[in-house]
Amino acid sequence: MTYYQEFEGIVLFQLPHREKDALVKIFTKEHGKMMFFLKNLQQNNHPLKAASVPFSKAVFLGHISDQGLSFLKDSRDLVHCTSVFEDIYKNAYATYMMHLADAAIEDRIKSVALYQLLDESLFALQKTDCPQLVVHYFEIKMLAFFGLKMNWEHCAFCQQTKGAFDFSIPQQSIICSRHFDEDPYRMQMSPKALHIARQLAFIKSPRQLGQVHLHSETLADLKRLMDEIYEEYVGIHLKSKKYIEQMIDWEKKLTQIKK
Ligand SMILES: [Zn+2]
Repeated sequence: MTYYQEFEGIVLFQLPHREKDALVKIFTKEHGKMMFFLKNLQQNNHPLKAASVPFSKAVFLGHISDQGLSFLKDSRDLVHCTSVFEDIYKNAYATYMMHLADAAIEDRIKSVALYQLLDESLFALQKTDCPQLVVHYFEIKMLAFFGLKMNWEHCAFCQQTKGAFDFSIPQQSIICSRHFDEDPYRMQMSPKALHIARQLAFIKSPRQLGQVHLHSETLADLKRLMDEIYEEYVGIHLKSKKYIEQMIDWEKKLTQIKK
């Protein structure tokens, strides 16, 4: 007899399988990430069509297999991320967030903390006018799940907590202006961008971000910092990240043409 149970989950991504079927990867709150097999999902009238779209959140009824593929039977309380799904930028950022969460922990490892981070960040992404900032918040918080701890609190050399700071990649820490010489390759961050990075590290929820309007230079600086930290210490190269880079490139080219 097949045993079904209810669990909450966020759809990370979907892969077509053969002609009509699909594999759907869901981050479940109760059991961690897991791949589900959905027979005939590619047919239009499939009852789980809406619930199995990426970024959807729902309470699912399914069979959790200990080793192989698991199966879904039903869903309820579906939260559809329409604004994210339909916005090309938010869609790209959300896809990257899903892939980053997928890369951070093994399948079938329960992590309510990571689940909540993903859930809250996805919610913030829906509401925000500045998706890039939400993604940088997510990236900063994700570092802990990759086993990293950056020091955003005080200078690596003198414990100073106030004043002008920069970021040192080798120190994995902010450094104060008196110790800039300690790292000749410091990130040369603008004070504004570094201040925002520290705020992102300190706040407990992306809901605290509110509506902020940052200059493109500040966002570019934040991105440079995150890219450098991820390149140096996380070392994963996601296709969805590359797609964001291309998107930013296209946008730059388009604004140049418009000028
Ligand atoms: Zn110092």
